[in-house]
Amino acid sequence: MKTEFTLAQLADPDIAVADKILRACVHCGFCTATCPTYVLLGDELDSPRGRIYLIKQMLEKDQAPTADVVKHIDRCLSCLACMTTCPSGVHYMHLVDQARVRIEETYQRPLSERLLRAVLGYVLPRPREFRIAMTLARLGRPFKALLPASSAGPSPGLLRRLRAMLELAPAAALPPPGPAGGSVFPAQGARRGRVALLQGCAQAALAPRINQAAINVLTRHGIEVVLVRDEQCCGALTHHMGQDADALARARANVAVWTAEAARGGLDAILVTTSGCGTVIKDYGHMLREDPQFAASAANVSAMAKDISEYLAGLELNTTADHDDLVVAYHSACSLQHGQKITSTPKELLSKAGFVVKDIPESHLCCGSAGTYNILQPDIAMKLRDRKVANIATVKPNVIAAGNIGCMMQIASGTTIPVVHTIELLDWATGGPRPGLN
Ligand code: SF4
Ligand code: SF4
Repeated sequence: MKTEFTLAQLADPDIAVADKILRACVHCGFCTATCPTYVLLGDELDSPRGRIYLIKQMLEKDQAPTADVVKHIDRCLSCLACMTTCPSGVHYMHLVDQARVRIEETYQRPLSERLLRAVLGYVLPRPREFRIAMTLARLGRPFKALLPASSAGPSPGLLRRLRAMLELAPAAALPPPGPAGGSVFPAQGARRGRVALLQGCAQAALAPRINQAAINVLTRHGIEVVLVRDEQCCGALTHHMGQDADALARARANVAVWTAEAARGGLDAILVTTSGCGTVIKDYGHMLREDPQFAASAANVSAMAKDISEYLAGLELNTTADHDDLVVAYHSACSLQHGQKITSTPKELLSKAGFVVKDIPESHLCCGSAGTYNILQPDIAMKLRDRKVANIATVKPNVIAAGNIGCMMQIASGTTIPVVHTIELLDWATGGPRPGLN
């Protein structure tokens, strides 16, 4: 695609990146077929190709975007299915990330939306505040019937979004928090390696059992696990809302503490059990590439970051449990399959551990979770969830496994089939507790 940036614009390193991405797009439209919002809405401007064109115009004009442009960019899930499909290697993620920052900096959203985004950006990355918010939301659940179940206009209003938040709140009280930063879990037997495990924010509050399962499996196989002190939320949630000052500050803080830990005790990898976080941490090198103080260490951290399944594939797991040939529908989180290109590894681990693993039809389509998307765009998110749940039902599983807490919550809100993290099944298969399967 021909671009028309001025030389002065191209002197901006971000615009130079955008220019390269835009020039790679040949407008073939292959990506439209696998874009969830185009599949649902059928509007070219809700397809990757349409959004690329809108972003091009917004950046070239160097003006605040119109409300219509913002609407179509906001509807993008950042699921990255378009990147998997694109034959020209268009790096849509770096383009839409930049567009979101530009919108955040230059576009004046309605007051209620600005407030909601500010609250989400403040609460979600902070486990303590997130726990308080979840408790309040749980108490508010009985009142959700008073709020609208669908949007009257083209964009959801505040009350519709509040209802979406209440619907996502867990029905039961949250479990007690997991171990604190600074905890070290020694390897059982001879030590074969040492890793940091990302503690996370929302997952740490909602399901500390997931990281506990990871610690169980790793230590059982000779890997020492450290929860690094002063680690923060990875920044993914604010990054996807265009709140880059917050996201970059968190990235720098994490790069600093992980680099210090690697120097102190040695680290073979930084492991992540939430693939949405993993995708962003693997991108720290790009996010901080212009920061002379952090560029090199951020690239190093990105190279060390691994999804838990990636790391476990390099270990020979000792499976012990008899789990009755349980049929597992494996939901491939977008951040794992499109963002990190990890597709078969989790399924192979589960199969080797004795589970009967079934692929889900239309597995390339997002479940609608996508960070804060199911709060900010609840109507589209619900349609995608219902489509995902219907596809899952066709394989008649005993359990659904996924590698991302956002997907797990989203899918669980639409089905009675139990949803667990892949690592919980692997923990069970290697001698750990049976996960909650009813
Ligand atoms: S598939 Fe790639 S090259 Fe073709 S329109 Fe989509 S982004 Fe552009
Ligand atoms: S990231 Fe997903 S929703 Fe956004 S344009 Fe690409 S395929 Fe469509």
